[in-house]
Amino acid sequence: MDSLEKIVSLCKRRGFIFPGSDVYGGFAGTWDFGPLGVSLKKKIMDEWWKFFVENREDIYGIDAAILMNPKTWEASGHTATFADPLVECKECKSRFRADKIADGINESVTTEQFLATHTKCPVCGKENWGPIRKFNMMFTTHVGAVLPDDDQEIAAKNIAYLRPETAQGIFTNYKNIVDTIYPDIPFGLAQQGKAFRNEISPRDFILRDRECSQMEIEYFVNPKTWKDNFETMRELQHEFLETIMLLPKDKIHEYEVPEADRAHYSKRTIDFMFDYPNGEEELMGLAYRTDFDLTNIAKASGKSMEYRDKNTNETFVPHVIEPSIGVERLFLAVLSSAYTEDEIDGSKRTVLKLPANLAPYRFCVSPLLKNKPDLVAKAKEVYTKLRTKYGNVTWDDSGNIGKRYRKQDEIGTPECIVIDFDTLENNTVTVRNRDTAKQKRVSIADL
Ligand SMILES: [Zn+2]
Repeated sequence: MDSLEKIVSLCKRRGFIFPGSDVYGGFAGTWDFGPLGVSLKKKIMDEWWKFFVENREDIYGIDAAILMNPKTWEASGHTATFADPLVECKECKSRFRADKIADGINESVTTEQFLATHTKCPVCGKENWGPIRKFNMMFTTHVGAVLPDDDQEIAAKNIAYLRPETAQGIFTNYKNIVDTIYPDIPFGLAQQGKAFRNEISPRDFILRDRECSQMEIEYFVNPKTWKDNFETMRELQHEFLETIMLLPKDKIHEYEVPEADRAHYSKRTIDFMFDYPNGEEELMGLAYRTDFDLTNIAKASGKSMEYRDKNTNETFVPHVIEPSIGVERLFLAVLSSAYTEDEIDGSKRTVLKLPANLAPYRFCVSPLLKNKPDLVAKAKEVYTKLRTKYGNVTWDDSGNIGKRYRKQDEIGTPECIVIDFDTLENNTVTVRNRDTAKQKRVSIADL
């Protein structure tokens, strides 16, 4: 097993992540988070919110609807350009994303360029391709009372999309925010939420899925200052990833995206790449979106998106710096950095060295023996005390103590607290550290 497979296996075995609709054989590109997974995921999202919203005076949170007026996606360019190059094998009819099965080409590949790579069909091995066609990745649905036998025109009028990014929910609320809370520029609007992309071939576990959670900030700036603000946002991302998520610095690499590969709205983009177990992959993006979105919204809505600086009286359409991160990508970066195999006293173990602020459980409490009522009662007392204080504390009295430690190591619980006969004498407990496996005696009052 390579290390990504080991992590997938651990995720399923311990209840972090299951394949979506598992009971029905799965549903490609979807994943369900179990009790431990949702706990870790929520902690990651909460830390982000604390760092970028609650602990700052210049960034405000919003939560917009997933279903948006379809004009949104026309104005943003998604209807026209949010597409991947699709190619079909004429022999076996399999469909692929062309730039993922051939080397040296990108998303804007032409049929001629693709054919020149002489790629063989990954399914049947033949080389007989149809033309490259643009496949729009937005999921469509219909809102309101549309019947299956309604004509195309009615259906088209009621079309809606599941949002492919959270960003547009922010841009479309820019005016509401400016008109209600009068923020001083530069200011940011942050949002966390689901986004949907109909990937042609979802793969790499939760790295490329069809439904994901995003955390995005649109940081509105005076166009004259975009460079400085870009640098500030860039440093903030590093600080968050390295000091709050505790991702190893040497696994994060910046990649300056060349013009030809940048999204249609961006004048500068840095991809933050991460060394995942299956190789280097994008973790997040930092893009200078200029005034592309606000200007398009102004044109499409007829409403002014201008900002007037209260101090200088200068009037302008703000430019935007956008840090955008996929929660699942960050989740896997955290999990794979924490995943460790080592040896304790001659026996092999798997341990998740998760930061204490992210671990699903901060402590595990257990009685040394489950058939001694005095021990169990005392352990319950400690458990209740810690649960009241910390919240995320688990109880385990199954199997022997060694097995409990292995299980807690595998789910990343930083410390295990054991109540033994000495506890009944002197109110001290054993606290065992996950990473070192070392134990110490601590007074209950000091926990
Ligand atoms: Zn084929």
